[in-house]
Amino acid sequence: MGKRIAFIGLGNMGSGMAANLVAKGLKVEAFDLDAAALGRAKLAGCSTHTSINAALNGVDAIVTMLPDGKIVRSVFQNDVFKWAPAGVLLIDCSTIDVGTAREMIALSAQKGHPMVDAPVSGGIAAANAGTLTFMVGGTAAAFAAAQPILAAMGTAVIHAGGAGAGQAAKICNNMLLGATMVATGEAFAMAEKLGLDLQTFYDISSKASGQSWSMTSYCPVPGVGPKTPADNDYQGGFATALMLKDLRLAMAAAAETGADVPMGRRAAELYEAFASAGNAGLDFSAIIKTLRK
Ligand code: NAD
Repeated sequence: MGKRIAFIGLGNMGSGMAANLVAKGLKVEAFDLDAAALGRAKLAGCSTHTSINAALNGVDAIVTMLPDGKIVRSVFQNDVFKWAPAGVLLIDCSTIDVGTAREMIALSAQKGHPMVDAPVSGGIAAANAGTLTFMVGGTAAAFAAAQPILAAMGTAVIHAGGAGAGQAAKICNNMLLGATMVATGEAFAMAEKLGLDLQTFYDISSKASGQSWSMTSYCPVPGVGPKTPADNDYQGGFATALMLKDLRLAMAAAAETGADVPMGRRAAELYEAFASAGNAGLDFSAIIKTLRK
């Protein structure tokens, strides 16, 4: 594994990820458009740069953790392909559409760079703790080169398949998560209307066939199950805006492939409505509030 890593995009997720690379003894060259993000990176032990070409100079690998596919495309086409040292490994950890990921990997190959798409599951707490799950798309050789760098930031690094396979796995997983969270919320809301005690319903369903991660690891009912964002008035956790972003990517992928996704589509509609009603900043499990009324 190379010793010097350029890290582009040190926001909520990237700052913790870069700090973990530093903690594992790597030298991190950080670049972000936001001065506050760079300030946090400096405190975490990164070298910071106010121009991207300075950050990319002489590095062994480049990690990007950016908001969306449009920004990833622009950073790759305008800067990375221009300034990256010859042949260095490119790792994009942002969540973006499968098409853009495949295109960036094809362009990277033309320019002589191995590249993987490596979106994450786990959120800000896992980024800070170094316990992310990485779903990785790319050739076996590119995966092998990226694996030790990703392992420094996570506990599971899984080769999902060829170019774009990481993004494909991520949006299928998060579509399932959105749908099970809505289904879990409506089951608790109906249990309540039927006069069941919600802790009792949890005790039964968590050991019965209705059990899911949304119920037993992320229960949307305050005071029931493990401690979750529901117990903190739905602050922190995984924002509704980010769930909606992933559901939109899933709906675009469904349209492109002709996949029939009735439950994912309904979850996307419900999260669209919930976000536009002013709840985009709340944890996504807060959707239960619209079902418990
Ligand atoms: P964020 O908005 O907090 O961070 C993005 C950072 O990129 C910001 O600091 C921003 O200034 C910087 N940036 C934007 N344009 C740039 C450019 N052209 N050059 C350099 N820096 C630029 O977002 P985040 O929450 O850290 O999420 C990053 C990615 O991870 C997204 O794709 C998101 O969907 C994904 N993700 C987020 C979570 C989560 O819980 N936050 C979980 C899983 C995946």
